[in-house]
Amino acid sequence: MAPQIKYTKLFIDNEWVDAKSGKTFETRTPHDGSVIAKVAEGDKADIDLAVAAAKRAFHRNSEWRLLDASQRGRLLNKFADLVARDFKYLAELESYNNGLVLKIAMMGISAGANNIRYLASLADKIQGETIPADGDTFAYTLKQPVGVCGLILPWNAPISMFINKVVTALAAGCTVVIKPAEQTPLTALALAALLAEAGIPKGVVNIVNGYGETAGVALTHHKDVAKISFTGSLEVGKLIQQAAGANNLKRVTLELGGKSPLIIMDDADLNVAVPCAANAVFLHQGQVCVAASRLFVQSSIYDKFVEAAVKYAKGIKVGNPVDADTTNGPQIDEEMMNKVLRYIETGKKEGAKLLAGGKRLGTSGYYIEPTVFVDVKDDMTIAKEEIFGPVQSILKFDTLEEVIDRANNTNYGLAAGIFTTNLNNALQFSKYVEAGRVWVNTYLMSDCRTPFGGFKESGLGREGGMNCVDEYLEVKTVVMTQPKKF
Ligand code: NAD
Repeated sequence: MAPQIKYTKLFIDNEWVDAKSGKTFETRTPHDGSVIAKVAEGDKADIDLAVAAAKRAFHRNSEWRLLDASQRGRLLNKFADLVARDFKYLAELESYNNGLVLKIAMMGISAGANNIRYLASLADKIQGETIPADGDTFAYTLKQPVGVCGLILPWNAPISMFINKVVTALAAGCTVVIKPAEQTPLTALALAALLAEAGIPKGVVNIVNGYGETAGVALTHHKDVAKISFTGSLEVGKLIQQAAGANNLKRVTLELGGKSPLIIMDDADLNVAVPCAANAVFLHQGQVCVAASRLFVQSSIYDKFVEAAVKYAKGIKVGNPVDADTTNGPQIDEEMMNKVLRYIETGKKEGAKLLAGGKRLGTSGYYIEPTVFVDVKDDMTIAKEEIFGPVQSILKFDTLEEVIDRANNTNYGLAAGIFTTNLNNALQFSKYVEAGRVWVNTYLMSDCRTPFGGFKESGLGREGGMNCVDEYLEVKTVVMTQPKKF
């Protein structure tokens, strides 16, 4: 049964409001493309209202700014309790709106509640330093919230991206305006309702649904927005940095795409490596920023590995995300499905060998068969561009040195992995691969206590880990005279 849709308006100053223009847009389920709800479509006028509300809430005398840091943490812990209370409903809504397999969504939201608790615990641990400056001087630093933050979310992991950005910004003491992806506005609205229930003061959290070219652009160009945190494509990430530079030099955090390499050495345990490598690229139908979309297999085990990988891919159960035996659901929408199918055609044309999948599945919804290409070469399009679909590209290599250079031969640098039982291989690879996250004998495992972010064109800044609040803080240095001799 479809989950109930409780919220479809904009959330500004703790009120549910229509867009100023009165416009709405349709949001759909990728399972069959049917319309779930009509959602208020905000644009510049609504962004202006939301930013004004967030600015009022950030005034030094506001309820939010006067809260003790420990109280901010307690409020966020209450939010975690509410997310845990409603986790089944939130998982159903996420799955319905973006096609994530329901059982995976449930695990993700339980992890999300823990993530909120971890981030909440940082609120009262934001500390400056005292500095031994020369002369008759006393110097210390204060770490203070940067101000109103614009948080722009992608469609592929709406709840976890909401938590990473919103809770970190709030733990730091900022106020926020959130622009969810146009494909998946519903869970952000449900989470805003829980933040209000937890007691967040008005204006601290605002949500403006809408399109990137209108609401998103207005947010990134707004002079009262001090910082933008964005997760999405490289193309839009570049536009965001340009907008920040062209206006008030906003601080920018960017979590962008990847073309992540996973290396299988000939000493790896294939019983573990084969399913893990498949999961690394097929999870959520390949719509994962760290997807291991370049799988390098050492030549001496290449044929054996390929045989097992193809068998594994053919065994993946694609179907309705809510069914208990489903492992893969649909792509987010028709446009993305067609884009992935075009990449598959390009792979075939450029000479990669298709050994599994390659086609759309059925005619309703946006399903694609898990696809395996072998004999992929570094200069093929499918080995260079982010596909964001269920396409495993297998490449052959001979030596570790060679494969490190090939792995690094990309503009991206988000994640990488290696399967090996040789400690030296693991250490050398981890040291020399250009990626913000390296997995050894595993892949995808994540923990909110660990920093996450990209090298090169995969991004700027980090989310997660103890220092993540620094992304939402300014350091102020106070210098005063204090005679040494007393
Ligand atoms: P996208 O860039 O198309 O859209 C992301 C968001 O940006 C949406 O809310 C969209 O409305 C908005 N937007 C679009 N144009 C804009 C503009 N000109 N100004 C301001 N906002 C604008 O990305 P997507 O297709 O939703 O997400 C998929 C991408 O996200 C993939 O490349 C994936 O790798 C990346 N991603 C990265 C991470 C990470 O942590 N590194 C995590 C998840 C997804």
